[in-house]
Amino acid sequence: MSSNERIYLSPPHMSGDEMKMIEEAFATNWIAPLGPHVEAFERETANFAGVEAALALASGTAALHLAGELLGIGQDDLVFCSSLTFAATVAPLYHKGATCVFIDSEPESWNMSPQALDAALRDCASEGKTPKAVIIVNLYGQSCDMDPILKLCDRYDVPVIEDAAESLGARYKGKQTGSFGKFSVFSYNGNKIITTSGGGMLLSNDAEAIARARFLSTQARDPAPWYQHSTLGWNYRLSNVLAGIGRGQMRHIDERVAARRRVFDRYVRELGVIDGVEFMPEPQWSASNRWLTVLTLRKPISASTISVLEHLSSLNIEGRPVWKPMHLQPVFERARYYPHAEGQDVGADLFQHGLCLPSGSSMTEERQTRVIEAFKEAV
Ligand SMILES: *Cc1c(COP(=O)(O)O)cnc(C)c1O
Repeated sequence: MSSNERIYLSPPHMSGDEMKMIEEAFATNWIAPLGPHVEAFERETANFAGVEAALALASGTAALHLAGELLGIGQDDLVFCSSLTFAATVAPLYHKGATCVFIDSEPESWNMSPQALDAALRDCASEGKTPKAVIIVNLYGQSCDMDPILKLCDRYDVPVIEDAAESLGARYKGKQTGSFGKFSVFSYNGNKIITTSGGGMLLSNDAEAIARARFLSTQARDPAPWYQHSTLGWNYRLSNVLAGIGRGQMRHIDERVAARRRVFDRYVRELGVIDGVEFMPEPQWSASNRWLTVLTLRKPISASTISVLEHLSSLNIEGRPVWKPMHLQPVFERARYYPHAEGQDVGADLFQHGLCLPSGSSMTEERQTRVIEAFKEAV
């Protein structure tokens, strides 16, 4: 093994159990469609998150799309969304023609600022409008501050979509994320904390709504002896083979969270002593899965995040800047935006100063040492 082998940001980490599940699918010829792994994966995930019902889908993006569909979001409907996130959070609703209003982060958790949300809801109410949904995001594996956010959404009677794509295994006040939204979403994309190579899950305590989503995700065929449609749907389901991978992965979720947290702790020990380096905080109500270790570079460090990432890249180490907030994206040039406080744009600041280090649960200590040395050189 060459010592210069590429270190990825968050590569897949298989346990061996996945292969047994795949073999079972092959042995029983449950390659398609659906099958027992799909049902079991849904049941096991719903139990894990502590919700009534779950629907396994081809991606987290598909799950977000169906959440929007179930809430009847369409042309010109208002939707509030956390600004500091990956574009897939809003893309499905953007494509439905919804008008997105972006809400800033708070410095304590880097997630949706309750006070910015409050300001946005009050403004809306004074204009005689209410958003059709508030989409909250549990960034980099850390829960939002759910209590104040849910209380506000309750007061205005607005349903919450919880984008927990990055936060599987993380908790808020002891309770699993993915259980707080009217609809919640997990992703099993290749770089998430566990993966099915690609996949997602839609979760809710409203079992009827999940049944409706199941119908829509399998081409919305009416119960009739012929192909009859009162409405049209999508082909969004996860295959039985991939659900088998997911079941094998889920058996090890607690170990994966512990491993990511260990990676994080070592970065903190070795890099936290550098003046100007600060890590993503973890409020006392949060138990993050530390999907990615994220830090900010500030004075007296003069190196920019991009120059540090370039140095890592020259040593075959994959890093990443913090998400560019949606309100700074060209596609949302004209969207409304509510900063955390007047003159305090938390998301823009984190984007400018933040970067993500390789955080895979299978990263060896030697490899992490390489990252740490490279980082020190760069700053
Ligand atoms: C990965 C991700 C998604 C999309 O999930 P896919 O399974 O890749 O479609 C959505 N939102 C966030 C915050 C993500 O990180």
